[in-house]
Amino acid sequence: MAEVLLKDITKVYDGGVKAVDKVNIEVSDQEFVVLVGPSGCGKSTTLRMIAGLEDITDGDLFIGGKRMNDEAPKDRDIAMVFQNYALYPHMTVYDNMAFGLRIRKFPKAEIEARVKEAAQILDIEELLERKPKALSGGQRQRVAVGRAIVRKPKVFLFDEPLSNLDAKLRVQMRAEISSLHTRLNATMVYVTHDQIEAMTMGDKIVVMKSGIIQQIGTPLKLYNDPINRFVAGFIGSPPMNISPADIVEEGGKILAKEDGLTLVIPKDRQEVLKSYVGKKLYIGVRPEDLIFTKKPEANNLKASITVIEPLGNETHLYIDTKENQFIARSLPENDYHVGDEVNFTPTMEKVQFFDFETERSLFYSE
Ligand code: ADP
Repeated sequence: MAEVLLKDITKVYDGGVKAVDKVNIEVSDQEFVVLVGPSGCGKSTTLRMIAGLEDITDGDLFIGGKRMNDEAPKDRDIAMVFQNYALYPHMTVYDNMAFGLRIRKFPKAEIEARVKEAAQILDIEELLERKPKALSGGQRQRVAVGRAIVRKPKVFLFDEPLSNLDAKLRVQMRAEISSLHTRLNATMVYVTHDQIEAMTMGDKIVVMKSGIIQQIGTPLKLYNDPINRFVAGFIGSPPMNISPADIVEEGGKILAKEDGLTLVIPKDRQEVLKSYVGKKLYIGVRPEDLIFTKKPEANNLKASITVIEPLGNETHLYIDTKENQFIARSLPENDYHVGDEVNFTPTMEKVQFFDFETERSLFYSE
């Protein structure tokens, strides 16, 4: 296995679209790194440059310590799993998995051993004589993964491999790919637009927007300490509630005023927020950090419940303050009804603050 290093990698397509802009990523040996971001952010282009399916406009790509910019895809010792599986329809499952080894002139016995081993790992031994059209979506996806496994590549690349599966199967395949990673001790780079997939699978997550890396970190680092407003809003479901607030000083205290709500800034944050007095910034509160009470207290904000989503393990409440909509997470059992007036306040220690112009978190630490 091997590490993958992207140094100032840039991609400009014909016609001048800069799809990837000076991207630096270090994927350690045996690490599972997920590239995530909204559609068009450049994640597939980045993966395709690692695979050698797109030319690199600028920067250096190393796999296992070797510069790979000018190596053909077949010489990079990588295997890629695509969203549409890309199986050969006229070949059996066995032949689909064996094909890559045959064209590399592997001995027949070695091919058979590798295909059987991969089929066993993926639990598709019964399907080896079938053609792809006689398989379910999940089975096809397993064959596509099997085709990568038999190659025993240094690096596995996955491009949105679960997008075509239904929700239940997606959850199952997510866990299967994670356990495959552990079992094979493989280096894996995985692209998805789905932040839940990223959070559940990645050792490390790279969040991209408009071709630029926003933040690289562990799932919990991204959740608890997002570098900017974009990452804060992108990671987490339901998303963080983010709205503008005015920072004022009253009676020696720094306050954030938002939408009729007056928040007293915690002591350890007053020093930094002092320089924002008279200015606006964004404050962000996760849905689980909105505390409800039916009995109004001094700092509460009044709102009415507009939508209730019971999920079984928890309930999401959409609340409307007239100026803003917030989403709160509550216990599954509650006696709220649509139209109820509620009072709430955020847990101040958990509130995030973002500069109004740069949108960077004021308290982010590397
Ligand atoms: P993502 O995988 O994050 O959805 P892509 O890497 O596919 O994003 O695309 C990044 C940007 O590059 C988008 O603006 C897209 O329109 C553009 N792009 C992708 N492929 C091509 C191409 N072959 N020619 C020109 N522009 C492209």
